[in-house]
Amino acid sequence: MSNTGKKGKTGKKSPRPSHSGRPVSVKKTSSEPAANSVKKKKRKTSRKNKPLKFLRKTVMILIFVIVISAVCALGYGFFEMRMEEDRIYSDETGSVQENDGNSGPEQWQEEGAPYIDVELLTPNSYSRPQIPIEQVNYIAIHYTANPGSTAMSNRNYFENLATTQENKVSSHFVIGLDGEVVQCIPTSEMSYATNSRNVDTLSIECCHLDDTGQFNEATYSSAVKLTAWLCTRFGLTADQVIRHYDVTGKDCPKYYVENPDAWIQMKSDIAAQIQADYELQGK
Ligand SMILES: [Zn+2]
Repeated sequence: MSNTGKKGKTGKKSPRPSHSGRPVSVKKTSSEPAANSVKKKKRKTSRKNKPLKFLRKTVMILIFVIVISAVCALGYGFFEMRMEEDRIYSDETGSVQENDGNSGPEQWQEEGAPYIDVELLTPNSYSRPQIPIEQVNYIAIHYTANPGSTAMSNRNYFENLATTQENKVSSHFVIGLDGEVVQCIPTSEMSYATNSRNVDTLSIECCHLDDTGQFNEATYSSAVKLTAWLCTRFGLTADQVIRHYDVTGKDCPKYYVENPDAWIQMKSDIAAQIQADYELQGK
């Protein structure tokens, strides 16, 4: 037998229980005044508007965050681009400290270098093969064996080899009769100047007035300054400054092969300049 629909002992119908468990009268109360129902409606609609307002606020905040993020991302992208440009410039000029974003002829001069006119050769297999130098161990001094020629004319001769294809020869730097310095190849790449030592040597060609091959005062001074500054950049000593002659026995640089005392003096001047440069650089 089922218990459903079982009435109380008195037979009277039990009052319907509310959710709170309190008895609720079944009988409906009289209808409420009209004003009250309007208020209720209003309350209802304002309750309906609340989530809408919240949603609107959330969307506004989201848009704000997205805009701020986009601005930050753009700014960072621009900063990265500038850094990359600096790095590329550094690479092209063969700077050792590639990411300092501070390298250039003026900065190098402050470190003791002579002014360097960076006139890089167009990459080509006859004078700028773009073969990387793993480590710089030597700096080699040469003479052009072409009396009276200028630094730029020697640089342009290397450049034209791409067209004439008559020889494979070049130099990282050429120093002219007025002491001007032209850079043809980044120090991170090989030049064709010092034969078997090309792999780890930076080359400097020096112009000269006559067949003796002796450097004039301006050329000599720039050669000492450039060599010393390169030594400080690559952590070399004057003992790592060599003549082309020391590698192949070739009569180059002529005057400084035929006059060993002049070579000893030049190395001594370079050693003194290295010290002066380190002091200038605060090292
Ligand atoms: Zn040489």
